[in-house]
This record gives sequence, structure tokens and C-alpha cells, in this order.
Amino acid sequence: MNDQFNKALPVLKEIEKHGYEAFFVGGCVRDYLLNRKINDIDIAVSATPEEIKMIFERTVDIGIDHGTVLVLHEAGQFEVTTFRTESGYSDSRRPDHVDFVRSVNEDLKRRDFTINAMALSSSYQLIDLFGGRKDLLTRQIKTVGSPSERFDEDALRMMRAVRFVSQLDFIIEENTFEAMCQHAEKLKHVAVERKAGEIDKLLNGTSMIRGLKYAFDSGLTSFMPQLITANVINELNDLEWQILYGTERLALILVLGSYQNPRDILSAWRMSNKVIQKQQLLVNLVNQRHHQPFNKSDLYEYGYDSIESAERIWSVLNKKEVKTSEIKALYDSMSIKTKSDLVFRGTHLIQWTNQKGGPWVKECTTLIEQFILNGQLQNNMSDIKSWVETKWHQK
Ligand code: ATP
Ligand code: MG
Repeated sequence: MNDQFNKALPVLKEIEKHGYEAFFVGGCVRDYLLNRKINDIDIAVSATPEEIKMIFERTVDIGIDHGTVLVLHEAGQFEVTTFRTESGYSDSRRPDHVDFVRSVNEDLKRRDFTINAMALSSSYQLIDLFGGRKDLLTRQIKTVGSPSERFDEDALRMMRAVRFVSQLDFIIEENTFEAMCQHAEKLKHVAVERKAGEIDKLLNGTSMIRGLKYAFDSGLTSFMPQLITANVINELNDLEWQILYGTERLALILVLGSYQNPRDILSAWRMSNKVIQKQQLLVNLVNQRHHQPFNKSDLYEYGYDSIESAERIWSVLNKKEVKTSEIKALYDSMSIKTKSDLVFRGTHLIQWTNQKGGPWVKECTTLIEQFILNGQLQNNMSDIKSWVETKWHQK
């Protein structure tokens, strides 16, 4: 049996010992049955959070209003959530009410898709009330109960559907898809950050293009910030995007969409500054690569990872075989890889020349870096000192 489940089994057993029911539920059961790597183990129980806190010595309240307690057990940390029902989704977002219940069946009913609505007991008995196992076999995303009602309750589920398509290489069941088309507009009510979270997972999936197509064809993309257009999807269709990682795929989409300044688009998606800067850099580097191959100075300035990513994106865009070995060899041959490898500091330059600090320090440093990178100067103190003392003024 699965190692991760076995590890968490003592927690289930301990809860059962106290007279409550406990199951593995949701994504971990789905991934286990699909033979996929399990992300996180979720445990659902008939006990209330207070009752769970009485059983285990060490717990953390991480979402007590929603019934979730983190149990710190010698076997690891596990999220334990009380069986619950949800009601009153007045704004297609989060439920207005959460009620704790004692029946696992009730809890499974509130879950989004049949494949996510199964439970596994401590004796590895599967509870599958909605045909999740069958849908796993036929590789379909299908809502639990009426798709129209389920999307009306929570519009984010439509985005979850397209991201599962991409992650699992599934299709969307016909009625479920039809309801998505009808309810796409409700996505307006969902916070951009939550949409971005799903898009991020979608872009990392093996069937990204199918997920994007569903998102576009159902009309979901009209209710998220700009990014995915018919044009972009058409162009992607023709490219070997599969070899790229999620971050690189986003940059590829930005380049395909001719968003020269991705900052505005990514800010609208409320992406972090770090992500925006990285994407801006990748887009700039890919554009630069159209003109000339990367050299040592590029590697020194932007670092190996960014240059390698830009090279990969550029190769995909130009339908060329990805060849990063030359870049790797170039990088390995560099005697300095980053500024921190330089033996001297600006203060040395000031000392050696007896000049006041100023913009010349940066200028001189850049020149020395170029000389070192080109092999015209060694990165050692005495060579650099004598170069500065004799050559800097005459340059
Ligand atoms: P992942 O591998 O990305 O964690 P997951 O299926 O575990 O996928 P989570 O967001 O961790 O997704 O949610 C855990 C479970 O909670 C889901 O499997 C599903 O049963 C239920 N769930 C999550 N979000 C919703 C939702 N919006 N509506 C209904 N049920 C949901
Ligand atoms: Mg999960």
C-alpha cells in the first residue's frame, strides 16, 4: 500500500480508537488511484475540531471555522477536517454557512467533482458514491450532482475543472462543459488571486493546451485578465511547448501574445513583483535572443537559469532543437559567474587611484569585468591593482 497513506494511518487509527470515523479524502485518493504522486494528505473525520484537539497533544488551529485542525504527530503533520456541508453561496464565491455533520456521505456530496469526492478508510475500503472511480477510468471531469447548481454555488470550480484537465490529461464531461459555458460569467465574482492560482497549475500541466482550449471555448477566459486568446492558443498548437516548465510557458505565452511589457498584464493578475520581474526579464531576453546568441556577459549579468530558460523558449518559438550544452560550456568556462566572485570592491578602486568615489567606480568595475570575462585580465588582486594604476587613466 502507498507509503504516504501508511505514514498517516496511525492518525486515522487514533481517531477511530476514540469512537469517531476518519478517512483519507479528496485529491490524495484521486491521485493514489491514478498512480500519481500525492500532493498532500487530507483527512476528514466525524469528530469536531474541539474533539480532535482533545485526542492529540499537539495541534494548530489553521482553519477552525471551516473545521480544519493541523495535527502534529510523530509521523508528520496532517490536516484533519470535520465532515461538513456548505450552504448559501450568495455570490458564487465562498459558502455563507459551514455546518459540521457526522456523516461522511454528506461531506462527499459538497465536493466539486466525482473524482475528488471519494474517501478511503483505514482498511483501504473505497467509498465512491458518485462514480468517481469510473470517471477516473474514462478520464472525465464531472461535477457531483447538477453541474449548473455546483457552478452557480462556486464559480471557481469551473477554473478547477480546466486545471484538472491540464494536470490529469482528462476531458470535461458534456453536461459539465455545457454548464460551464452557461455560467462562465459568474467567474467575475471570483478573486483574481484565486483564478491566478488555478492558471498557474494549468500552465504546469501536461495537457496545458487542452485546458486552455476548454477555458477559451467555454468563455471563461473572457472573465479573467487578458492572457489567453484564440491567437495564442493557435500558435501554441504548432509549438513543442511541452518541453518548457510552467514559468517558461507563461513567458512563451507573453511573447506569443506580443505583450512586450508584461508588467501591466501580470499586475492585473495580481502576480507578485518577483514573478513579474522574472517574466519581464525572460521576455526581454527572448527578444534579445532574436538578434544574437547569448554570450558570457549575458550569463554574467542575468545568471545561468534565466539565460537557459530564455534559450529554451527561443528554441521552442523558432522550432529549433533546444541546445543548452553550448551555453553550459560557456558558463563553465567563465572565471567569474557573478559580482560576488570579483576579488576587489569599489573601495579598492578608490584607494588605488586616490580619487573620490563617483560614477567612474561602476564604469571601471564594468570594464574590469569585461576584461576578466574575455580572459584579458586575471581575477586576482595584484593584476587588477596594477591594471587600475597603470591603464585606467589612459583608457
Ligand atoms: P491538489 O492536488 O491540487 O491539492 P486537490 O483535489 O487536493 O488537488 P485541493 O484544493 O487541495 O485540491 O482541495 C482538496 C479537496 O477539497 C478536493 O479534492 C475537493 O474534494 C475539495 N474541494 C476543493 N475545492 C473545492 C471547491 N471549490 N468546491 C468543492 N470542493 C472543493
Ligand atoms: Mg490538495
